This record gives sequence, structure tokens and C-alpha cells, in this order.
Amino acid sequence: MTSTDDGFDHCDVAWMTLALDYAARAAGQGEVPVGAVLLDADGRLLAAAHNAPVQGHDPSAHAEMLVLRQAARSLRNYRLTGTTLYVTLEPCVMCVGAMLHARVARLVYGASDPKAGAVESLYHLLEDDRFNHRILTEGGLLAAPSAVLLRDFFRVRRHGKKAGDAAVAMAEAGVESRQGRGDEALQS
Ligand SMILES: [Zn+2]
Repeated sequence: MTSTDDGFDHCDVAWMTLALDYAARAAGQGEVPVGAVLLDADGRLLAAAHNAPVQGHDPSAHAEMLVLRQAARSLRNYRLTGTTLYVTLEPCVMCVGAMLHARVARLVYGASDPKAGAVESLYHLLEDDRFNHRILTEGGLLAAPSAVLLRDFFRVRRHGKKAGDAAVAMAEAGVESRQGRGDEALQS
């Protein structure tokens, strides 16, 4: 069995690589680069998606929510028993909640999220045995490329914002600017 990250097999790596592809697509569309993939109990692909709250004007359009929705719709069942969800970033409170409702069996994630993570960072929701469903959880798979995508995205966005602010300052000073501001859509 080939394994690049401890405790994960080559299938895990392949599925997380697909999730990373989706994350990269998100970045190209001005969305925070997080991607997710959902498999059925037999390891077949049910859904894949990336974050899309900006484009969808939808605060709940996290990658995990989108794969759960897609799969539930196509299976015509809101219970997704036996499924495995791969996501490039540690899920937030909302997404962990949705996974519990959907009865996801296993969660594999990449980088931890110190700002919003509800699995190991801010909260340890999946260790709370008051919930009547358990999700087998493993983190840290391909965490480095996931974190690099996020870091690069926010770095570019910060620079873009500075360029936008400078263009506004120039316009306000009566200096004609052909640069445009262009980054309003990124203000999520
Ligand atoms: Zn989320």
C-alpha cells in the first residue's frame, strides 16, 4: 500500500488530490480555495465541489455543504449513510453540523483551520458523544498543498485590495485611473 501521509492509503490521496483540484478552481473564481469530494459506501464518487458563497450569494455554500446537497439530491435521500467526505480544510461548525445530520460515516480533511475549524481547532464537535452519530475523522492529509493554496489566495487578495485602494485614492485626488477597482467581488 502506498502512503504519502501517515495512516492514509493511495485512494485517500487520490480523492484528496481531486478535492485540491476543485480548491484551485475556486481560487481562479475569486472564492476561498476549499474543495470537497463525497464518496458512497462502495468508494464511488457521488459529488465534488468547491466553495462558492461569493458567486452564489450564499453564506452556506461551503464545499462540504455543496457536495452533501448534490449527493442528497441525486440519491433522493437526505441521509447519506456510509459516505466518506474529503475536504481540503478542517470543516466549520455549520459543515460539521450538516455532516452529522447527513450521517456521513467518515471525514478526511487536509489543513487545520485555526480561525473556524470545529474538529480540532476552535471546537472538537466530533468528540462530543452527546450527538447520536459518530463520524470517523482523520485530518492532515495533503495539508501542506491545501495550506499553500489558501495562503497564496489571501496574499494575492491583500495585494489586489491595496491596488484597489490606491486606485480609489488616485481617483479621489482627481487623477484619472484606468486601473479600475475590480476586487469588490472578492470582499466576502
Ligand atoms: Zn463550512
